[in-house]
Amino acid sequence: MSAGHAPSYYAATANAWESIPAVAEPANVDIAVIGGGFTGLSAALACAEKGFKVALYEAQRIGFGASGRNGGQLIPGLRWSMREIETEFGHDRAKAIFDLAYGAVGRVHDRIQKHRIACDLKSGHLEAAYKTAHFENMQRDAEFLARAYGWSADIVQPKDMRRHINGGGYHGAIYDPRGGHFHPLNYALGLAQAARDAGVVIYENSRVNLPDVKAHTIILATDTWMGELAPDLGRYTVPIMNYNIATAPLPHADALLPSDAAVADSRFVLNYFRLSADKRLLFGGGEKYVQRPPADIGAFVRKHIVKVFPSLADTAIDYAWGGAVGVTMNRLPHLGRRQASSGQTIFFAHGFSGHGALVTTLAGELLAEAVAGTMERFDVFASLPQRPFPGGRLLARPLATLGLLWYALRDRI
Ligand SMILES: Cc1cc2nc3c(=O)[nH]c(=O)nc-3n(C[C@H](O)[C@H](O)[C@H](O)COP(=O)(O)OP(=O)(O)OC[C@H]3O[C@@H](n4cnc5c(N)ncnc54)[C@H](O)[C@@H]3O)c2cc1C
Repeated sequence: MSAGHAPSYYAATANAWESIPAVAEPANVDIAVIGGGFTGLSAALACAEKGFKVALYEAQRIGFGASGRNGGQLIPGLRWSMREIETEFGHDRAKAIFDLAYGAVGRVHDRIQKHRIACDLKSGHLEAAYKTAHFENMQRDAEFLARAYGWSADIVQPKDMRRHINGGGYHGAIYDPRGGHFHPLNYALGLAQAARDAGVVIYENSRVNLPDVKAHTIILATDTWMGELAPDLGRYTVPIMNYNIATAPLPHADALLPSDAAVADSRFVLNYFRLSADKRLLFGGGEKYVQRPPADIGAFVRKHIVKVFPSLADTAIDYAWGGAVGVTMNRLPHLGRRQASSGQTIFFAHGFSGHGALVTTLAGELLAEAVAGTMERFDVFASLPQRPFPGGRLLARPLATLGLLWYALRDRI
């Protein structure tokens, strides 16, 4: 078990990583990165590769946040379909967004290969339709993506679902062979090792504030903690608590998910699941809009599991944990740059809205390009329209909660 992480399946199966002592005296560097998740690690590594002197500060352990606890689902693209993106932004902007967002798959694969990161990478992602109307919409999206952008995925008819899932009652799916899944904490630790090898000085157990760091440029990569460092930026996201479990290893695991794809369904509060390397079912389901966790996370998630796999009603759950997903108003990420009164330049990236496993690695690289003065690709994301949640500091979360509950209710109608 890797101490200092949430008590998850991932912490229990983490690759060796010695805890790094807390910062005593902040290093004198060009760039200070705050946050040791995928975004901060990718940014620090890419900055070091460009020749900058970099320090990374992590309040707890590398991968302590969402990056070390997520579903490990590698879902190409953003939360919006390319059809929605093109309708909203027109073809030229949509093409620039496509190149980056779908190109993120290749960036993650390159990192894993180049740095030999042992993180159980598997191919294949399935988006399963919860309702027939969802399937019709998903088919239109998939056909458009193939026709306009040359990104083809398989349309799986309801009668063929058993090739992928034995259970569920789903109404068809889209299978993307370029999606997949991985062990997220081991990917984060691998990125951290690569960053150290490239010269980044990493401090764990080091919760810092903006005035604590000495650097002309600061990269804020603290996702759901953003409000503690920059209260105005914190208003662009709300944290949605999401829960995961790992069953005991299953003797018939391959029969449940024969193609070994990662599956996410089309509900607003989605279920997502996949097999681990040691043949457990890893299942995420159920959200809470208050920070307090359910008294029994395993029982809370099991309610969702049995709807998909009734045969697992009594299967032992070995690990259960939760994490906060940083969600923006429009579910697109929020990247930007600002000048602090201290004269320091601050870059930030947060709010990946449940689609962060791939796009964060790309965002880190865009941050590094921007720090080096090349803004073009960074601006593709930084120019996406974003608004803070309404209601100010006290009311933003309750109002957002009401809105989210409404969408969750629509799944049940
Ligand atoms: C339960 C769950 C399931 C998810 N499943 C998926 C999935 O299957 N697929 C997918 O694409 N996305 C998924 N996501 C989303 C994805 O995990 C995130 O978008 C992504 O990990 C965000 O990475 P990050 O580096 O920006 O933030 P984080 O990983 O949260 O990192 C932020 C870090 O900043 C540190 N920090 C905070 N304050 C300070 C400070 N003052 N000083 C120093 N350090 C500080 C924190 O300790 C933390 O480690 C999921 C998220 C959750 C919570």
